Amino acid sequence: MTISETDLVHLRRAVELAREALAAGDGPFGSVLVDGAGVERFADRNREVSTGDPTRHPEFEIARWAAANLTANERADATVYTSGEHCPMCSAAHAWVGLGRIVYVASAEQITGWRRDLGAEPSQVSVLPITAVAPGLPVEGPVDELVPEVRALIERAVRLR
Ligand SMILES: [Zn+2]
Repeated sequence: MTISETDLVHLRRAVELAREALAAGDGPFGSVLVDGAGVERFADRNREVSTGDPTRHPEFEIARWAAANLTANERADATVYTSGEHCPMCSAAHAWVGLGRIVYVASAEQITGWRRDLGAEPSQVSVLPITAVAPGLPVEGPVDELVPEVRALIERAVRLR
C-alpha cells in the first residue's frame, strides 16, 4: 500500500462528499478526479435517491465527465479517489474511458458486510472487486485510517432507510 499524505487529502474530500450525500438523503458515497498534476478536476457525490436514477453514482459521473473533457493521455494519468470501492458498473465505465489509478477507502466487501450485519437488503448487483471487472487497473485500498468514518456513514444510511 503506497498511500501518501496527498492521497489522504483527496480521500478526505471524497468522504466529505459522501457525508453531503447522506445529508441529502442519497447513498453515502463521494468521489474525486485528480489529474496527473495533482489538481482536482471534477468531483461528485451519489445522487441515486434525489434524482430517482439509481445509476447516478459519482464514479460513473466522473467517467462520463472525463470522456467529454480530458484527452486519452490525461485520463490515463488521472487518479480517482472514492469513499467506497467502485461497483461493477462504475469499474467498467472507468476502464472503458481509460482512466488510471483508483484509491478507495472501504472495499465493496467491507461495505457489503456492514450492511448485511444490520439486516439491509442485499444488492441486486453482484459484489465484485474492481480488478475482477477491470483486471488491468491499478487499485489501492482499503485505507484503514479512514475506514471507520466511511463505516459510520454506511451504517447511518442503513438505519435511516
Ligand atoms: Zn457504481
